Amino acid sequence: MWGMIATWRMALEGVTKGAGMLEQGADAGDAVEAAIREVEDFPYYKSVGYGGLPNEDMEVELDAAYMDGDTLDVGAVAAIRDYANPVSIARRLSREKVNSVLVGEGAERFAHKEGFERKNMLTDRAKAFYRKRKKEDEQELRPYAGHDTVGMVCLDCKGKMTAATSTSGLFMKKKGRVGDSPIVGSGFYADSKVGGASATGLGEDLMKGCISYEIVRLMKEGLHPQEACERAVGLLDRELKERRGKAGDLSLIAMNNKGEWGVATNIQGFSFAVASWGEEPKVYLVTPGEDSRCTFEEASQEWMEDYMRTRMAPVEE
Ligand code: ASP
Repeated sequence: MWGMIATWRMALEGVTKGAGMLEQGADAGDAVEAAIREVEDFPYYKSVGYGGLPNEDMEVELDAAYMDGDTLDVGAVAAIRDYANPVSIARRLSREKVNSVLVGEGAERFAHKEGFERKNMLTDRAKAFYRKRKKEDEQELRPYAGHDTVGMVCLDCKGKMTAATSTSGLFMKKKGRVGDSPIVGSGFYADSKVGGASATGLGEDLMKGCISYEIVRLMKEGLHPQEACERAVGLLDRELKERRGKAGDLSLIAMNNKGEWGVATNIQGFSFAVASWGEEPKVYLVTPGEDSRCTFEEASQEWMEDYMRTRMAPVEE
């Protein structure tokens, strides 16, 4: 028995790779790291790794994390520049007893010492998106539109679970801004005794609900991952609207240690990728409904083709 679930269609190639490894008996740590690296390396996914969208100073600052559900080891980097695979640095940090979450220059120094690959992560395409947004928003820069995190939960044949994330965060964010993705309990959580969860959406709001931990806690109480996701997302969405008048995007995926999985969102257009011992890698599209109930259906061939076409279309400035 093994399984892997991840946020967004962009995770599909990574999930396919990870699933192949898990099928051969790979460790959940190795599979999740390889799967996320696949997404980080693809230049046309503009919110993760190479080709990620820059902050308001036109610098690509990346956040990533890794958690081992057996030992509860956590490692994370935030606002790191010029390194190719932040998830691998996060995983390496998870083995440190202390200093396992590093930001900015400190994270870069650690990565350098450990011999991680240095790379200029700002592509010409990302620069074009930046110039375009600057022109559109001459009055005031709107951070936010143009973001997404790849967040994954993985279960291997031995019952070990892991979770990992990687993102360039919000487009046009302030230098030094940190979202939920490298924050344990908010962007990700994994406990092999129960299950794992990971988030994408507006980090500032996801953090207010410690939502990945909350989903794992609900699964521990006996809820199916689908129920746990719907309940946690529904509650946070309602609380935010009640107290603040609005809620940012909240989208979550989860899997328990039996390989059962679930998702929930408060937005239209959320997609996810999943694979398991009984299911080929597939992409599903989610529709939020009444009472935070979510339904999903497999993405059509047409949707999949259109997705790649729009991802790779030239940037019209
Ligand atoms: N949660 C990420 C952040 O706030 C962005 C996203 O997932 O869309 O940095």
